[in-house]
Amino acid sequence: MKAEILTIGTELLLGEITDTNTGFLARSLASIGVNVYRTTSVGDNEERIADAIREILARVDLLITTGGLGPTVDDPTRDAVALALNLPVEFHLDLWETIQEYFNHRGLTASENNRRQAYLPQGAEVIFNPVGTAPAFLVETEAGTLISLPGVPFEMETLMVQSVLPAIRSRFEVNGIIQARLLHTVGVGESRIDEKIGVFETYSNPTVGLAAHAGQVDIRLTARAENEEEAQKMLDPLEQEVRNLLGDRIYGVDDTSLEEAALQPYKNNHQTVAVIESGLGGQLSAKLGSFPDTFHAGLVLPTTTIAECTKMIEQEALLRADVILVAVFSSREENLLELQLHVGETVITQDIHIPGPAAAAMYRACTHALDFLRTQFQSGVQ
Ligand code: ATP
Ligand code: MG
Repeated sequence: MKAEILTIGTELLLGEITDTNTGFLARSLASIGVNVYRTTSVGDNEERIADAIREILARVDLLITTGGLGPTVDDPTRDAVALALNLPVEFHLDLWETIQEYFNHRGLTASENNRRQAYLPQGAEVIFNPVGTAPAFLVETEAGTLISLPGVPFEMETLMVQSVLPAIRSRFEVNGIIQARLLHTVGVGESRIDEKIGVFETYSNPTVGLAAHAGQVDIRLTARAENEEEAQKMLDPLEQEVRNLLGDRIYGVDDTSLEEAALQPYKNNHQTVAVIESGLGGQLSAKLGSFPDTFHAGLVLPTTTIAECTKMIEQEALLRADVILVAVFSSREENLLELQLHVGETVITQDIHIPGPAAAAMYRACTHALDFLRTQFQSGVQ
């Protein structure tokens, strides 16, 4: 079966809000094995929404829309659906009572405007909204099934999980799931990765795809299978093959951040880490600061030399950690990043030029410094 997503809201087209609903819906549909063929955004205009709905239903079996279900005149989705499907709207007394109860429960009174929300295209099934007033609905047409959900992400997500996914599963008898696994790499370019693992990118199930960010590339492995266990069985050997080719360039899977991966070996070794940084906008301390059980202290200095930073190790009692990372970045000296890792008497150093304009280079320098911390860990050194 084929599905599409239509997000409704003029703010989306003005770039005032970021469309996060599409991503959530796409992931949810993928998780039950439904293919999303296309996604569209349209403003709060009844005719244009109706046009989009007609076009989409001519292509696919299922359309999910979000937004425009509120009580105000600029919430046009109900009327647009009726227009697109050539249906009148009808008043649902039970829905109006539910909306009134929702307000009464909170010591408020539903306004006449809220009455609008009780009008749905003829034949629509109400999808009860336990977390807001905007009722969602489902319409079966000859062309396909249309489901309209509220725009507020929390409401949309709740309805999707509680009502819509089970409804899709039972109506369409969709089988299987699509499971994705993200392998995060650092310090190796997209084209280099492509060279190494390109052959996997031609697979059709499981599939392999790349997504590049500043200084980091994610490798996405995706399997379509009967169930989670089968999907894992397909992903495990593929992950191993990719790891064999990229080795320690892979620092983590799924939700693991680089800073977490950088601290992990020290944490395992019961060592604490402190940082002295300059020229990096405090980014190292800010990132590592989320892991206070290992990260001990961070000192952010204004533009200075690495020698000045190193002096602070003696002077600052707060910096008495098992491992101290010193990182000095200077965009004036052609984006020079100087790194030192102090582990007891041992000092490991590295100097590297980071290409690119200053602001982007600073971000990359921070990534590089975290990767240095990660890869220079030496077990056994206390
Ligand atoms: P309400 O009853 O709150 O008016 P609604 O269904 O009419 O619900 P909208 O008015 O379209 O929804 O959107 C409400 C809010 O939800 C927006 O101001 C925005 O913050 C958020 N929102 C809407 N659409 C999206 C989207 N596609 N991605 C992320 N956030 C969204
Ligand atoms: Mg609204």
